[in-house]
Amino acid sequence: MTIFAKIIAGEIPADIVYEDDHVVAFKDINPQTPIHILVVPRQPIVNVAEAEEDDVEAMGRVLWGAAQVARQLGLVEGGYRLVFNNGAGAGQTVFHMHCHLMAGRKLTWPPG
Ligand code: 5GP
Repeated sequence: MTIFAKIIAGEIPADIVYEDDHVVAFKDINPQTPIHILVVPRQPIVNVAEAEEDDVEAMGRVLWGAAQVARQLGLVEGGYRLVFNNGAGAGQTVFHMHCHLMAGRKLTWPPG
């Protein structure tokens, strides 16, 4: 069971900012931007790379959840970045799919 599955199950605390039937969104414990939220599907998909066609709705729900968080936090006008790290080589450390929603400072492109 990953740390995110434990957060979803309520076994360990998190600063939850949004939840619905499909996703839970909470503040990253080690924020890299002033606003750094993780949007996590309740369904324990490992990552985009390993997703199956049966996971399509859950994956779409992650993006919908991110949009709801951004609207709730007033981020639409200023813009925000959504990031999915896929695999250890790309920086993934928790193997339960999650979308990083990042905002609150100037974000450079391309990312480092
Ligand atoms: P990844 O590196 O897998 O793309 O992102 C995992 C993220 O989860 C990291 O940004 C890390 O700071 C965050 N994280 C790891 N453990 C916890 C935790 O117990 N609680 C919260 N809120 N975030 C965590």
